[in-house]
Amino acid sequence: MEMAAYNDKKDNNMKGAVGYVGITKAYRYRLYPDAKRQSEVDGQVELARLLYNKLLEKARDEYRKTKSLAIKPSTFNRFLREAKAENKELSGLYSQVQREAYFRLIKAYQNFFRRVRERRAGKRVKAGFPRFRAKDRYNSITYPQFGFSVDRERKDVNMLRVSRIGGMRIELHRPIVGNVKTLTIKREAGQYYAIFSTVNGTEPQKVRDANPVGIDMGLETFAALSDGRKITKPDFARKAERRIAKWQRITARRQKGSHRRDKAKRQLERKWQQVNNRAKDFVFKAVDDLIGSGYTSFAVEGLHIQNMLQNHRLARSIQGASWGRFISTLSCKAEEAGMTVTAVDARNTSQECSRCGRLNTLSLSDRTFSCACGYVADRDVNAAINILNRATAGQAGSHARGDLASTHSARDGQAGSLKREHTPQVTSTNVNVEEAHSL
Ligand SMILES: [Zn+2]
Repeated sequence: MEMAAYNDKKDNNMKGAVGYVGITKAYRYRLYPDAKRQSEVDGQVELARLLYNKLLEKARDEYRKTKSLAIKPSTFNRFLREAKAENKELSGLYSQVQREAYFRLIKAYQNFFRRVRERRAGKRVKAGFPRFRAKDRYNSITYPQFGFSVDRERKDVNMLRVSRIGGMRIELHRPIVGNVKTLTIKREAGQYYAIFSTVNGTEPQKVRDANPVGIDMGLETFAALSDGRKITKPDFARKAERRIAKWQRITARRQKGSHRRDKAKRQLERKWQQVNNRAKDFVFKAVDDLIGSGYTSFAVEGLHIQNMLQNHRLARSIQGASWGRFISTLSCKAEEAGMTVTAVDARNTSQECSRCGRLNTLSLSDRTFSCACGYVADRDVNAAINILNRATAGQAGSHARGDLASTHSARDGQAGSLKREHTPQVTSTNVNVEEAHSL
């Protein structure tokens, strides 16, 4: 299919809506370039990096000369001309890619300049000059809207065609929704990825909240729902833990700077990536399932995810990360479907009786909750009911209100991975660039 096909009527509709800000999302797919395309991509990434550093060097020299940090756009244009004149190699950079590397630098510089001003105004922000990028700190190139397309070659084989680079097989494991704005090709641990950033132009209709559900996330089961359902924990984390620990030991043993250590580091990165990919898959499936189950809103626990992320046990930190991702993915997909996700303070949700409110003492090994009032339930299900109660009670104005004030829909920030999946955003196309880059 042509990429242009994604930019259908919606785009025209958006023009009429003055000030409308779409939802920017990124879709990431594995790419399989052959040796030729691979070296083509690598070459472009390297040239883009050289250009970036060259422009930065010129900005720095300009400051030394003028003692002024303000640089006009016309001056940046001059830098660009000079850079290309000084380094003939740079003429091999494709124009689209060059444009983006140039904007990346300008954006970095403008951010720096803004921070300097904020500092002068008394704000406590760090304002370091943008840094030169070493090879391992610059690993992607971005194409604007019209430099690429995706074609279906035959069943299950799709090709990403990129202007001047050529065709690369792409694994389209899920469909792209929305209007594609940019393509970023990224190199990571020796593998290649295509990241499409899209803007969604339609606003979902709000669903009437007739069937809200509470979700408790635990160590035994991945999640328990207030209606008694459970999402069982994937078991890959524990196996992965052993493999990752092994490669960590090997890396530590090998001599710093040695070829063998680099190799071990790559292995280690790859193992992490495998877990990461599987965890992502798992989360997507779980969320899809929830969204399609007839619930109309979701209540989740808001506080201890951050704590869990810092847990030293690897398997737990993987799971902690999955929770964060789960909540962010759920928030994003729920929003698309016109439903809300509310995060509540989860203190004592395991101890509190969801029927009478009495606090009971439970040890971690107690799987059943039983209360003097006669209520008996699965421990996690009881907690999920409490979470649901707090979300709905909060709306009616009870004790849980304080917790809700900051967390209406979990999307505003507690989960680190949130930004990657879903960032409400921005009017100019250039801005997508940095964003996709930070993926
Ligand atoms: Zn009770």
